[in-house]
Amino acid sequence: MPYDFDLFVIGGGSGGVRCARMAASHGAKVAVAEEGPWGGTCVNVGCVPKKLMVMASEYSGAVQDSHGFGWNTLPGQHDWSALIEAKDAEISRLNGIYKRMMANCTTFEARARFIDPHTIEVAGQKVTAAHIVIAVGGRPIIPDFAGAEHVIVSDHVFHMQTLPQRITIAGSGFIAVEFAGIFAGLGRQVDLVYRADLPLRGFDEDLRTGLAEAMAAQGIRLHPGRTIRAVTAAKQVTLDNGATIESDLVFSALGRAPYTGDLGLDAAGVKTGGMGSIPVDETSATNQPHIYAIGDVTHRINLTPVAIAEGHALADRLFGPGPRHWHLNRVAAAVFSTPPIATVGLTEAEAAAMGPTDIYLEKFTPMRHTLSKRARKTTMKLVVDQATQKVVGVHMLGEDAPEIIQGLSIAINAGATKQDFDRTVGIHPTAAEEFVTMRTRARVSDATVRAAE
Ligand code: NDP
Repeated sequence: MPYDFDLFVIGGGSGGVRCARMAASHGAKVAVAEEGPWGGTCVNVGCVPKKLMVMASEYSGAVQDSHGFGWNTLPGQHDWSALIEAKDAEISRLNGIYKRMMANCTTFEARARFIDPHTIEVAGQKVTAAHIVIAVGGRPIIPDFAGAEHVIVSDHVFHMQTLPQRITIAGSGFIAVEFAGIFAGLGRQVDLVYRADLPLRGFDEDLRTGLAEAMAAQGIRLHPGRTIRAVTAAKQVTLDNGATIESDLVFSALGRAPYTGDLGLDAAGVKTGGMGSIPVDETSATNQPHIYAIGDVTHRINLTPVAIAEGHALADRLFGPGPRHWHLNRVAAAVFSTPPIATVGLTEAEAAAMGPTDIYLEKFTPMRHTLSKRARKTTMKLVVDQATQKVVGVHMLGEDAPEIIQGLSIAINAGATKQDFDRTVGIHPTAAEEFVTMRTRARVSDATVRAAE
């Protein structure tokens, strides 16, 4: 039976758009449905507007630094609504670019749902497709503590017309620590409430410690080991130990969940897993061989470049010259905290669990802060497998960390050894040169020996 389309993509975010336009470029007849603005979470309520806000927040620190270099600059007033207006104009421009990227596809600006395994209902029509890609992403989890209706999540923060003075943030994952830095940089009082002893569970311990110190130095009030019990309409926050925090805004960043409700997955016979995620094999296929899922809806590595890589690989495999291979086992990640974090490969704990691991570690005041005496340290760390001398992890907390680690992630994916790093001549004076000049091992980490003792 002929189908209306070779490929129907549900979701016009980073992964869906890449898959659709690459498939169309290979000659496939493609349709894409998006119920919101084109570009999905990353462009509209995620990476892009967040980074613009991070940039806005950095000027207060730059003013502080400038005093050490002879400037008598005053901090001035920040106009949040002007930032939102400028950000909205930029995002509209990007929405247009995303839409134009699908010039060779049929687009539906509506929610799509399955009627049966090959049929989609969208904008009042029923359309059929040989292959269907689910790229609907995720949505912020709404907390379950009392008074959750008084709390905002990340989707809301990008559209607020004013930014109140006292802000309590729940969580210490990517979003929580990024916005803690943004709000503090914009001069707000920030309380960060999180259940772990350090922020950013899963990241290397030295970075987690360094970030907690940096946030405290920035004036962010840390509440480790605590959860929120209740929030009142007046934004008074009660913690699990009974302590209270007077706030004007409460921002919950307790994770994101796949957005699979009401997609008609039962009608399509597509199975779901934990939190409504869609399990897939290495080719992005679901349990229905002609239905695929890419990006955050699979709830594995919830990062834009991974969704793009999966979408591109799938389009090439279905309609193009053949499978495209990506290194998805050593994906670099950045947290745009203040200062930022970037990391690729194994943490010290993960590497040490596999065997003896050489650790190289530097913690220093970067040149920019030496004259201004601003209390902000950079942490840089190499995790080296002792047996092979391969550098299995590179971690950095400090200015430009994401820019530096992007380059180093190529070396890590190529299997560089510590000797390769040592042979490389640095660029002086930079922070990045520390990665090729660390000669003295800080310690040997070996959880396998410790476990046996
Ligand atoms: P994360 O998964 O990063 O963090 C969730 C936070 O919520 C953690 O601190 C977690 O605590 C806490 N938490 C979860 N459940 C509870 C609970 N019941 N009670 C108390 N605390 C709880 O989620 P985010 O919302 O920050 O971000 C979602 C995803 O978006 C990230 O995983 C990331 O993949 C992506 N993202 C990526 C960015 C980037 O690349 N720079 C930026 C922003 C988002 P604990 O640690 O103790 O489990």
